[in-house]
Amino acid sequence: MSSSFIATTLVPVLYLLSAILFILGLKGLTRVRSAQRGNAMAALAMLIAAVAALLEMGTFDLQWIVLGLVIGGGIGALAAVRVEMTGMPEMVALFNGSGGAASTLVAASYVWLNVIEKDSGSTAAGVLGSASAITAVLSMFIGALTLSGSVVAYGKLAGKISGNPILLPGRHVVNLLLILGSLGLGIYTLFTVADSGSIATFIIVVMVLSLALGIMLVIPIGGADMPVVISLLNSYSGLAASATGFVLQNNVLVISGALVGASGLILTQIMCVAMNRTLANVLFGGFGTADSGGGAADNRDYTNVRSGGAEEAVLVLENAETVVIVPGYGLAVAQAQHTVKELASELEKRGVKVTYGIHPVAGRMPGHMNVLLAEADVPYEQLLEMDVVNPEFNNTDVVIIVGANDVVNPAAQKTPGSPIYGMPVLEVWHAASVIMIKRSLSPGFAGIKNELFEYDNTMMLFEDGKKAVQGMVTELKSL
Ligand code: NDP
Repeated sequence: MSSSFIATTLVPVLYLLSAILFILGLKGLTRVRSAQRGNAMAALAMLIAAVAALLEMGTFDLQWIVLGLVIGGGIGALAAVRVEMTGMPEMVALFNGSGGAASTLVAASYVWLNVIEKDSGSTAAGVLGSASAITAVLSMFIGALTLSGSVVAYGKLAGKISGNPILLPGRHVVNLLLILGSLGLGIYTLFTVADSGSIATFIIVVMVLSLALGIMLVIPIGGADMPVVISLLNSYSGLAASATGFVLQNNVLVISGALVGASGLILTQIMCVAMNRTLANVLFGGFGTADSGGGAADNRDYTNVRSGGAEEAVLVLENAETVVIVPGYGLAVAQAQHTVKELASELEKRGVKVTYGIHPVAGRMPGHMNVLLAEADVPYEQLLEMDVVNPEFNNTDVVIIVGANDVVNPAAQKTPGSPIYGMPVLEVWHAASVIMIKRSLSPGFAGIKNELFEYDNTMMLFEDGKKAVQGMVTELKSL
């Protein structure tokens, strides 16, 4: 194969194929049924892009490529195999951080190799061109802040650092100074400084300031909001990669980075809408703290709460023909997914039609409930999204809520002024009976009262989610 055929035909065709596969892969990820295929397509796209990049380079040190593949691939494979489903947000946070680190290092090393090492006495913009110089600064800036922000997000989620919002006085001014300082110094350096020693020093300062900004942006945000932040950081890592694509003039990196950037932003927006919050409120609100206005509920807020045990719950279920199970964060805490599946199978054996009502922000990460239920082999067809299941509640005999709270709170529709007023929720109260499994009258993430506990058709079952459902299975089997 001639080298001109490789450069002019094969490499562009491989890049095009890779870009198409990235887009099809993303499309596949929009449906649970096609998600695995979508993931495989995106992985293939990545492989093709890497091969094309190597062909484009022509000569390279194979030992470094193999070493990188072994170390990077090894860490990725080990993490993917060992991570628990509930630890997924932490892993995604670290992967975003790695993406940011890669972008910032690639952009910096490009400037290093072509400007600093060659020491031609010209500015970086003179050597690389203005567009490459500007995008190199953006890539170093966004990449570094994504790295440090993701590490803080990981630390908060994993409980390695306090999940409480840390609200430093004057933080907005400090952040503004860090943004102006890092971008200003970066542009100044690459456009006006010709001395390679100074360029090297200033580039390191730009990266340190950007790293500091990433920490400052994430520490004021509460641990429970980290999934939204991680989605946003995911978007940043895409933007950093895209900027690096401009620096390297690599189209597939521009395209794939833009896809990550856009999809991360869309997911962030979906999560904010489903929580009835603005992005500004997530980023600056310190939600769940005293200054968020949530107003924590406690036991004294409740009167006329009807409670029962597994036996009473099964009495309610005995004559049911249709049951909707609503999972929430507590299901993940209790790891009750397999036991819930067992309960559903027991009910189905008795001719009951069982489905699951899935709220888009139930749990603590997007798709949290889908992932847990898939782990227990619950058939996809039984998972009904909120818009589909809401009209069904009028014709439902029993709703069994396992560890969900905010996503079934009628205050979202009935109490103007409530922090969650306007948030779309599962309208479970329209069912004939509701069995609500949780350990106490404690509030959920939003920290507010849930009047559903007091409704005439609600029976509270105060127990750990797994134990409660296990008790119901045992009762059902003994009938
Ligand atoms: P909630 O946080 O509203 O409530 C969870 C409930 O689970 C608690 O009230 C708790 O009550 C109960 N619980 C905890 N442990 C157990 C256990 N072992 N057994 C049984 N119950 C248990 O959860 P939802 O899923 O209803 O709502 C999710 C919330 O998180 C929403 O407010 C959403 O906006 C927010 N959020 C979601 C994100 C996402 O991406 N999914 C991201 C960020 C925030 P008790 O202590 O009495 O047992």
